[in-house]
Amino acid sequence: MESLKNKILNEGRVEGNDILKVDNFLNHRLDIDFLNEMGKEFKKRFEGKSINKILTIEASGIAIAAIAAQYFNVPVVFAKKTQSKNLDKEVYETEVYSFTKAKYYSVKVNKKYLNKEDNILVLDDFLANGRAAMGLKDIVEQAEANLVGVGIVIEKSFQEGCKLLEENNVNLESLVKIKSIKDGQIVFK
Ligand code: 5GP
Repeated sequence: MESLKNKILNEGRVEGNDILKVDNFLNHRLDIDFLNEMGKEFKKRFEGKSINKILTIEASGIAIAAIAAQYFNVPVVFAKKTQSKNLDKEVYETEVYSFTKAKYYSVKVNKKYLNKEDNILVLDDFLANGRAAMGLKDIVEQAEANLVGVGIVIEKSFQEGCKLLEENNVNLESLVKIKSIKDGQIVFK
């Protein structure tokens, strides 16, 4: 997606050799017009697929998932990271290692929001080592639902997530793929 590459080059900020900050349009300030463009692109990438629910993870996946959902006309379910008093005891739960926070956390989805008739599209902002995506895949499997695919805004192809998803036969669609980040320079695949 050329417009996203340009947006990353113009507005993104590199931290070290593996972190890209896109707070100006995706992770802090939300550029709704641009999120709509990306939402339409996800719809195109998964055209013809039967999808009745989008699943993401709080907090950074929610914005793109909610905007994209308008083009799929489906609800969004987001996995919760926090221990919530309101969340029923009846949950699907999995452990995810956070690349950015360098710690494990548990994510949960209330059982009433996923079931075995569901055809699920997982959406997230970044793909790094694939732990978030694999955690959501695990939750889909616990619900005995069907994982149609995983849609990612920014894939960092130099980390192991894309390989891990491929090895697990996941239909992965990334709007842009970054081959490397070195000395502040972003190189797209
Ligand atoms: P993974 O689970 O694939 O290792 O990491 C994906 C998650 O970590 C994403 O949901 C995203 O929130 C966060 N993440 C990974 N890499 C980056 C990055 O370079 N920039 C930002 N802003 N978030 C990232």
